[in-house]
Amino acid sequence: MDTKNAGFNSKLIHAGGFHDVNGSAVTPIYQTSTFSFQSADHGAACFSGESDGYIYTRLGNPNIAELEKTVAELENGFGGIATSSGMAAVNVVYLGLLASGDHMISHNAVYGPSRTIMESLYPKFGVESSYVDATNIENVIRAIRPTTKVLYIETPANPTIGITDLRAMAKIAKEHKLKLVVDNTFCSPYLQKPLDLGADIVLHSMTKFINGHADIVAGMVVTKTEADYNLLKPIMMNIGCNMDPHQAWLTRRGLKTLSIRIDRAQENAIKVANYLENHPKIQWVRFPGLKSHPQYELAKQQMAGPGTMISFEVAGGLEGGKKVMNAVKMALLAVSLGGIETLIQHPASMTHSKLNDEKQLEGGITKGLVRLSIGIEDIDDIIADLDQALAQI
Ligand SMILES: *Cc1c(COP(=O)(O)O)cnc(C)c1O
Repeated sequence: MDTKNAGFNSKLIHAGGFHDVNGSAVTPIYQTSTFSFQSADHGAACFSGESDGYIYTRLGNPNIAELEKTVAELENGFGGIATSSGMAAVNVVYLGLLASGDHMISHNAVYGPSRTIMESLYPKFGVESSYVDATNIENVIRAIRPTTKVLYIETPANPTIGITDLRAMAKIAKEHKLKLVVDNTFCSPYLQKPLDLGADIVLHSMTKFINGHADIVAGMVVTKTEADYNLLKPIMMNIGCNMDPHQAWLTRRGLKTLSIRIDRAQENAIKVANYLENHPKIQWVRFPGLKSHPQYELAKQQMAGPGTMISFEVAGGLEGGKKVMNAVKMALLAVSLGGIETLIQHPASMTHSKLNDEKQLEGGITKGLVRLSIGIEDIDDIIADLDQALAQI
């Protein structure tokens, strides 16, 4: 069926799908590198673009196309470009939008590798960048230069759960002719639709909520316009950071339950955040659904729900954080997020341990900060697990 005007949940199930000659309810896996043409003329038409037949899997494949179409519809964009990983999506966007002499502004708490590669590789090609706390609009305006071309935002940011005002960013981008790119990994289109709020390009690590089952690494770029799609698609094709058909098939399957997974995990997260906020050994909790969040109102305006990511500061600093890590029994000590299992990680001793104290603080990482990605287990078990762990410090 054509799902263009269907509701979000119907799109999750039916968008991009097609039925094969056997009437298969689920798109079969087209585990093939290449596609044969019916004739020389058909081959010529595929290459010229007159026919939308498939040629070679790096350029396109039915499973990948189904996923691209689905995520693009969910984000209300023109088209999707699937990539081998979230970082591949980030790099396709950087390479497409930035040239020698150009400047990019981004948030100082973006996903670590998105900043590391911009600061370590792109200067070699003459690209400059500034990282500011984008939750304060003034910082962004001050960082604009005549050469600025891209405003690259991630909200909520990690692991501070700071919220950036996307409508305000879109206004700035429009005034200064910048492309607004939003990494929407932490929300998924179920909770936030940046293109509707004025962004030009949205990208995802589909490794997280979109696939949701911690068994795939994958990425996606969605553009609002056909022009941006035509600019970025060949970059993915020619760099060769395409998805694999089986990877695309699993991701499309995981995506079908996005809303019910998030509903359940979010319901759990609200209860966990309230539990933590009332715990004597917790100094503070950051969760967009708590009134104590500094941008509680903004989160309500631009997000359809508070999500499933919680950060909190445990008493005892570095040692306190490590003790909690060692004491939990059900939550997995792991990075990543957005899956069906509850994950816990301690940035000061894990993801951000290589940064010195000053850099850690600039990114909002305090010694006792613990980050949770809440899963869909029984809420009583999640809280009991945290309760017995916190009792040990
Ligand atoms: C994980 C993540 C990425 C990178 O995605 P990979 O799939 O690991 O390459 C980018 N942005 C955010 C916000 C992420 O959480």
